[in-house]
Amino acid sequence: MIQIKNAAQIAIMKEAGRITGEALCLAGEAVKEGVSTKHLDDLIRNHIVKSGAKPSFLGYGGFPGSACISINDEVIHGIPSKNKILQDGDIVKIDVGAFYKGFHGDSANTFAVGNVSDEAKRLIEAAKTSFEKGIAAAIPGNRLGDIGSAIEEHVKQYGFSVVRQFVGHGIGKELHEDPSVPNYGTKGHGVRLCKGMALAIEPMVNAGTHEVYVLPDGWTVKTKDGKLSAHYEHTNILTDDGVISTTKVN
Ligand code: MG
Ligand code: MG
Repeated sequence: MIQIKNAAQIAIMKEAGRITGEALCLAGEAVKEGVSTKHLDDLIRNHIVKSGAKPSFLGYGGFPGSACISINDEVIHGIPSKNKILQDGDIVKIDVGAFYKGFHGDSANTFAVGNVSDEAKRLIEAAKTSFEKGIAAAIPGNRLGDIGSAIEEHVKQYGFSVVRQFVGHGIGKELHEDPSVPNYGTKGHGVRLCKGMALAIEPMVNAGTHEVYVLPDGWTVKTKDGKLSAHYEHTNILTDDGVISTTKVN
């Protein structure tokens, strides 16, 4: 069932989103060659805890990190490790969630480490701009399929593909609520969007095939063909005055 948020809940979700976005920004600023993904995870956890919140992902289904940090052909759910060191030319996806006063924020961003390939640059651009198109389609009165189709159609123009096995989601008291928010779909189809819905819109865009698989660690999702993947996510609340991306800072 889709939970519609009232004004008081939206006010708290904005706070949860701000803490999430700040933690992601801090980690992004620390991205450079030679840094471990564990270090980034520590920065994120420290900021979330210092802000009076809890890392949403820590212990979720047994996940060992506060953030998911995924490099290159790792799509999502990468486990932070002191042995995973960022290298020049990598692209790194950092996905953060914070739980504050009973509500979650969830946000992801893709960062380039030093000098990345032209393909990586194009992929990041495709993922980011498709993400913006998806959020722009999150309008009361539209349908769920309008979000996915806006994302997918845009990504196709680049010759890239959208991951289908993992999707966005409703968010609020639970990290993952109804509805599922696929990054593909048909315009005019699906659930009608209405004000008070909170949706985590999060395209995962692959340079090659859309197919992915999970590593034996039970978490890390990788592209099947070993090509790069990029990921963006905001927590969004639909209102009559436009969408509020709670996790967007600045
Ligand atoms: Mg996320
Ligand atoms: Mg999410």
